[in-house]
Amino acid sequence: MTNTLTESMTDSAKSITGTFADLSLSKPVMKAIDEVGYETPSPIQSRMIPYMLQGKDVIGQAQTGTGKTAAFALPILSMIDIKNKAPQVLVLTPTRELAIQVAEAFQRYACHIKGFHVLPIYGGQEYGSQLRALKRGPQVIVGTPGRVMDHLRKRSLKLDALSTLVLDEADEMLRMGFIDDVEWILEQTPDKRQIALFSATMPSQIHRIAKRYLNSPAEVMIKNKTATASTISQRYWMVSGTHKLDALTRILEAEPHDGIIIFVRTKTATSELAEKLQARGYSAAAINGDMQQSSREQTIEKLKKGRIDILIATDVAARGLDVERISHVINYDIPYDTESYIHRIGRTGRAGRSGNAILFVAPRERRMFYAIEKATNKKIDRMELPSAKVLNDKRVDKFRQQITDVIAEDDFKLFTDILEQYQQEHNVPALQIAAALAKIAQGDEPLLVKDKPQSQQRDFSDRDDRDSGGGRSRRDRDGGPRKRNSRAEKAPDEGMARFRIECGHKHQVMPGNIVGAIANEAGLDSKFIGRINIFDDYSTVDMPDKMPKEVFAHLQKVRVGGQMLKITRLASEGSSDEGSSGKRSKTKSFKGKGKNAEASKKGFAKRSKSNSDKKPSRRKSSKD
Ligand code: AMP
Repeated sequence: MTNTLTESMTDSAKSITGTFADLSLSKPVMKAIDEVGYETPSPIQSRMIPYMLQGKDVIGQAQTGTGKTAAFALPILSMIDIKNKAPQVLVLTPTRELAIQVAEAFQRYACHIKGFHVLPIYGGQEYGSQLRALKRGPQVIVGTPGRVMDHLRKRSLKLDALSTLVLDEADEMLRMGFIDDVEWILEQTPDKRQIALFSATMPSQIHRIAKRYLNSPAEVMIKNKTATASTISQRYWMVSGTHKLDALTRILEAEPHDGIIIFVRTKTATSELAEKLQARGYSAAAINGDMQQSSREQTIEKLKKGRIDILIATDVAARGLDVERISHVINYDIPYDTESYIHRIGRTGRAGRSGNAILFVAPRERRMFYAIEKATNKKIDRMELPSAKVLNDKRVDKFRQQITDVIAEDDFKLFTDILEQYQQEHNVPALQIAAALAKIAQGDEPLLVKDKPQSQQRDFSDRDDRDSGGGRSRRDRDGGPRKRNSRAEKAPDEGMARFRIECGHKHQVMPGNIVGAIANEAGLDSKFIGRINIFDDYSTVDMPDKMPKEVFAHLQKVRVGGQMLKITRLASEGSSDEGSSGKRSKTKSFKGKGKNAEASKKGFAKRSKSNSDKKPSRRKSSKD
């Protein structure tokens, strides 16, 4: 028998520590993990969970995609006192999307904890329903800072019984101008509470907060391994427009390949994807940690011998796997740390051969993508999905080849006799009969595919900036002071329009306050907020041209720096002087991330009508 699976302590396997069973999580939580299909804890989970369970304060330097949500949610749920109906846990997140996502994760991991309630609270949502939900006694609250602050002031949320506070994506909260609010909330928490602080980067302001409010925190930072073989060509596809499964099948069809390993995150996903590929005619099989070692080894033998071509695996199941004929590794789900990526792609390019690694990256996973590029010290090239023309040319070639092959076999006398007779009886040309037969053979599946419009494909909005060195500086991201930028005077980018808002330097607004308020109140992803120019008594903001009416109406009443925005659209061409009554002095210009025409189509989340009737009440700023 092969030793492919037994050399398991090679590569990054050493760093994937332990199992969930080693972590002393509660029974209902363990049951949920099993059902969700997680095989092993991710590095941040295996290191963070023990500290969390001991009640220690912790700092986790981790970004989205590392499994950080489960790193705090699983131990919190293992410790929760279900009978206590006062909020025991507060998670602060920078955006409402993240708040909802985190609340959903809690719900998923708590599916076997009876009487558990989690409540997301965020700006842009009606107060009435939030107040009713708060009265129902959720044990865990996940919220954006501004709205949490509002409820604390109104006394509709009390933190007297709080045992754990999580600051999720602390650096992002800083960037969005929420850090004063976060500090204010921290001041309202009881002395003896556990704090878990997560941040992808550690700017000085976050360090300061950690020093001031955390009690001898344990620090968890996952070190990255950096070696990837130079024989492996690495590409990524930005998940957009096309469904991942369709993208995968296009790639499988168009790329000349030998054996392929496709990596997914969960056990369930291995078998689901294997079944879907089998249904599409591929010889695919799954391996995961639930399978017996012997049956895993049998599957790998089949792959080695070419009896199957595609293996769908989890990280654990593919540890140390050494099969020479692997021409491609496809990361269908992005790995949760850079070491896993390095380990995964090391399954190709074996024995001196060249290999190909393809990574699927969703826009929200871009931080992990950059971390991978940084850790491997290699630029991963962008790939476009094979076009309809490429696929169709291949399909036609294959079809023609099949005809040639069958003719070469030359044993179809029975059919020639039948067709000869048919031709005489019906008096139709042979070509027409051949075409009819081809149609029958093709069945319902069309031979040719149609292309999706190219406009559905877009890149990370800030990637080009970064590549050209013209993107937001580290200072920008950290919310610190920015330099004057001559591009301030430029017209808005295509698909964007310039808006005037009635708050400026004299109201002490920072760009982060504006981004935060608009992002959360208008339901606009912050990446679609473009250039911001702050003047003495007003500011201008570039946003997607097609702003829905109700969002526009709602933004009139939102406050930043105590000022109602009273948003107006500037006439045209984007000179920031237009419509201005204010003096133009000390202009600061801030370049946001969003800038392409896609923004106008995709930027705004749906808002309910009632939102525009809501009266936000803020003392200092209305940021979420
Ligand atoms: P997060 O970094 O919390 O945004 O998590 C990213 C993704 O990883 C989510 O889709 C989780 O469901 C998934 N995930 C978290 N922990 C694990 C694990 N131990 N095994 C597999 N997937 C996981």
